[in-house]
Amino acid sequence: MSIKVNNLTFKYMVGTPFEKTALDNVSFEIKDGEFIGLIGHTGSGKSTLIQHLNGLLKPTSGEIYIDDECITAKGVDLKRIRQLVGLVFQYPEHQLFEETVFKDVSYGPKNLGLDEEEIESRVKWALSIVGIDYDKYKDVSPFDLSGGQKRRVAIAGVLAMQPKVLILDEPTAGLDPKGRDEILQNIKNLHKKSKMTIILVSHSMDDVAELADKLIVMYRGKNIIQGTPKEVFRNVETLESIGLAVPQVKYLVQSLNKKGFNLNEDIITVSEA
Ligand code: ADP
Repeated sequence: MSIKVNNLTFKYMVGTPFEKTALDNVSFEIKDGEFIGLIGHTGSGKSTLIQHLNGLLKPTSGEIYIDDECITAKGVDLKRIRQLVGLVFQYPEHQLFEETVFKDVSYGPKNLGLDEEEIESRVKWALSIVGIDYDKYKDVSPFDLSGGQKRRVAIAGVLAMQPKVLILDEPTAGLDPKGRDEILQNIKNLHKKSKMTIILVSHSMDDVAELADKLIVMYRGKNIIQGTPKEVFRNVETLESIGLAVPQVKYLVQSLNKKGFNLNEDIITVSEA
C-alpha cells in the first residue's frame, strides 16, 4: 500500500503552557512495497509521526492517505486501518501476556474471528518469518524465552494480522549485537518475500542504511532530508550537525580518496562495510 502525508502538523497539549509542536508541516510519499528508514534523534517526532499513520493520533492539521483513502477524514473505520497498518511499538515484548507462544501470536487473528485452520497457518507463517521454530516453541511460555526471542514473538503477533504496511519503532533497542542482527535479518527477509511496505524507525543510521530503499530524516518535527541512502549521505555535514553518524564506509572512501585513491562509492556499497 502507498502512503501520502500532506502538510501534517501535530501539537501536544494544545492551549496549555506545555504546548509542543511535535510535527511541523511534514509531507512525503511512500510507494507500495517500499522499505523506508525513518531516522532522527530522540525527540525529533518519529513516534508521533508513526502513530498518525495508523490512526492512533489525529493531526492538528494536514491529511494522510493510505492508497487513495484519506484516513484522517471523519467517520473512517480506524479498526480496519489498524489491521492494514501494523505497528510494532518499542519494546513490544512488554505486551506479551498469554501462557504460550501460540496463544500470544494467535491473539489478534482470533479477534478477527478467523477459523482455526487459518489462525494456525498465520501463526506458523508469522513465526517462520521471525525465525522461531513452531513445533519447538508453540507450547512454551513466552516468559521462558530470551530477550531477542521474546521480541521476535511479539513482532510475529503483529505479522499474524497480515498487515499491508508494517511499522517497527526501534525494533533493535536494547538487544545485544546477535539479537539485533537476527531481527534486522528477519525484517530484510520479510520484505524480500512479501513486498510489504515497511517503515523501520531508528536513531541509528547503521540499522537502516543497508536495508532501506529510502530514508526520511526527521529533525525537530520536520522531515529535513529524504531520498535514497546514497542521496541522504551526501548531506554529511547536516547529518553530523543533528547527531546522525553516517556509516563508517563513507568516511573510509572519503579519506582514502583524499590520500590519492580514486574509489567510487557506487561500487563500494554500505553492505560491504
Ligand atoms: P521520537 O520518537 O523521535 O523520539 P517523539 O515523537 O516521541 O520523538 O517526540 C516528539 C516531541 O514531542 C518531543 O519533543 C517530545 O518531548 C514531545 N512529546 C512526545 N510525546 C509527548 C506527550 N505525550 N506529551 C507531550 N509531549 C510529547
